[in-house]
Amino acid sequence: MKERTLSIIKPDCVAAGNSGKVIDILESNGFSIVAMKKIHMTKKQAEGFYIVHKERPFYDSLTTFMSEGPVVVMVLEKENAIKDYRELMGATNPKDAKDGTIRALFATDIERNAVHGSDSKESADFEIGYFFNALEMV
Ligand code: GDP
Repeated sequence: MKERTLSIIKPDCVAAGNSGKVIDILESNGFSIVAMKKIHMTKKQAEGFYIVHKERPFYDSLTTFMSEGPVVVMVLEKENAIKDYRELMGATNPKDAKDGTIRALFATDIERNAVHGSDSKESADFEIGYFFNALEMV
C-alpha cells in the first residue's frame, strides 16, 4: 500500500546548495513529491516540531539549528515510504551512514545531518499535519 512520510531538507543542506541533489535522489528512488514548500521556522516552530525530543540534552541546540535558515519540507509518497526513506537517509550520525545514503553524501555531523524523515506512521501523521493541510497535497 502507498504510504506517506515527511521529509525535511535541513538548514545545513539547503545553505550548502544541495537541495536539488537531494530531490533528484528522492525522485530517482521512486518517491513522488505530493507537497513541497520552503520555509524558515522560528525557534518556537522548531520546538513544536521536535516536541517528542524535549527532554533530550540536544533539544535546545537542535531547535536552534533547525531555525537558523530555510528548510525544504516535503510530503513523499511510495510503497513503504517511511522505512524506505529512513534507509535512503542513512544513520543519524553520518560516521555510521552507509555509502550512497543522503547523510553519507551531505551530512556534516550528528546534528547537522542534512535531512529529516518520519520514523513511524504515527510520527508521519503528526509531522505532515504540522506543515500541510489536505488542500496543499496533490
Ligand atoms: P533521526 O530520526 O535519525 O533524525 O534521529 P533522532 O530522532 O534520534 O534525532 C533527531 C535529530 O536530532 C537528529 O536528526 C539530529 O539532527 C539531532 N541529534 C540526534 N542525536 C543528537 C546528538 O547526540 N547530539 C546532537 N547535537 N544532535 C543530535
